[in-house]
Amino acid sequence: IKPVHVIGAGMAGSEAAWQLAQAGVPVLLHEMRPLVKTDAHQSDGFAELVCSNSFRSDDYEQNAVGLLHEEMRRLGSLVMEAANVAKVPAGGALAVDREAFSAYVTEKLNAHPLVTVERGEVAGLPPADWDNVIVATGPLTSAALGEAIAALTGAEELAFFDAIAPIVYRETIDMSVCWFQSRYDKVGPGGTGKDYINCPMTREEYDAFVQALLDGEKGDFKEWEKSTPYFEGCLPIEVMAERGLETLRWGPMKPVGLTNPHNPEVKPYAVVQLRQDNALGTLYNMVGFQTKLKHGEQTRVFRSIPGLGQAEFARLGGLHRNTFLNSPKLLDGVMRLKSEPRLRFAGQVTGVEGYVESAAMGLLAGRFAAAERQDRAPSVPPRTTALGALLAHITGDANAETFQPMNVNFGLFPPVEPGLDENGKRPRGKAKGPARKRAHTSRALADLAGWIAQKA
Ligand code: FAD
Repeated sequence: IKPVHVIGAGMAGSEAAWQLAQAGVPVLLHEMRPLVKTDAHQSDGFAELVCSNSFRSDDYEQNAVGLLHEEMRRLGSLVMEAANVAKVPAGGALAVDREAFSAYVTEKLNAHPLVTVERGEVAGLPPADWDNVIVATGPLTSAALGEAIAALTGAEELAFFDAIAPIVYRETIDMSVCWFQSRYDKVGPGGTGKDYINCPMTREEYDAFVQALLDGEKGDFKEWEKSTPYFEGCLPIEVMAERGLETLRWGPMKPVGLTNPHNPEVKPYAVVQLRQDNALGTLYNMVGFQTKLKHGEQTRVFRSIPGLGQAEFARLGGLHRNTFLNSPKLLDGVMRLKSEPRLRFAGQVTGVEGYVESAAMGLLAGRFAAAERQDRAPSVPPRTTALGALLAHITGDANAETFQPMNVNFGLFPPVEPGLDENGKRPRGKAKGPARKRAHTSRALADLAGWIAQKA
């Protein structure tokens, strides 16, 4: 069998190579380190963790990333096997000794008879005779390859920085304070005139909010990130606040074209708008609220916004150097570039965020590429699993106009019905809190088991 080429032996590429090899498909794994370095990696090992040593919560009943761990374990993930071997105590989180973790992944891949490692940069589009390629070059994709991809996709479809506004679970927004309305009731393409959720502020609330933004503790840029360009269209909210008390009121928080149905007589002094972020309508992003505020500060300051007092965040804001595609527009359902299907993408470059999410997309890419190589139809995991929900988000559910990297979270899953109560009745409405999470995770694992059994 001809080999599949995997470019990048990071979190995604290592997992993809493993899945291919375990399926019986030979792999040529291309890694540029140590010949060409990135700004963040320190070693020449595979699957190097460039910052924290945590894979976040390991609770697969109550946490979406814990569920993703469990699904990956059940699919023979090398990354999860290595994490198990290199585990260090971290309460409910899964944390690892980073050197032991990377060494385990490197050894397993080097020792696999179907994996051949080639050290060296792929400094442009892969040669035409590489007919099945996984590009897993990560947030710090080398410049030459990044430019070649941008030339292929169109420059505006490959970002070199992210500018992430927080995302809120729709069901945690207090609609007795907020209301649905587009400015001037404007009906855009596919819109209804009620596409935004609006949170009204009085003058006192606005002034205090701007002050809180100014006082809030900000995260630092790494030395090599200092050249992060602030595009005028997506300035961090606190930078806008620094430009003057009125700047936000003339920018994303302008109160015009809106009437508060809860209090039509009083015109809001400022308004925070949230826009639907996924096709399911479970997630809303805070329009114009990209930020470098520290995560704890974001939760505190943004919960001071009327209507968001109990808000739960699916993702907090950020601004980093990051290379990622506009995947919902460019990739097909099995992560191939629609315009050049021999190229499949995996990992952070597909617009997922985090070590585990990147490895998870590597796992799927490896399986899809193996199926193709063996003339089988790639099988997509059910939409109700963490793997399936994340894949569906990046390959279609997410809004391509505003696409920014995403962590796994329950807002990406189709809603669940509440379980039966002690009288055997189903309570009205949607399941909430821990019961909702358990309903998600038990449905996911049952559906995953069905999927695995079906393919076997
Ligand atoms: P990587 O793990 O970066 O792997 C990509 C590999 O491709 C690298 O080994 C690279 O050398 C290689 N490569 C690049 N270009 C080429 C080329 N042209 N030819 C051959 N090889 C190439 N996530 C978290 O969950 N927690 C964190 O604390 C965290 N901190 C981060 C800190 C920084 C500074 C950055 C940049 C990202 C961080 N992330 C973090 C986000 C992300 O989850 C990780 O970067 C993760 O490693 C992404 O996995 P990946 O496989 O997509 O990319």
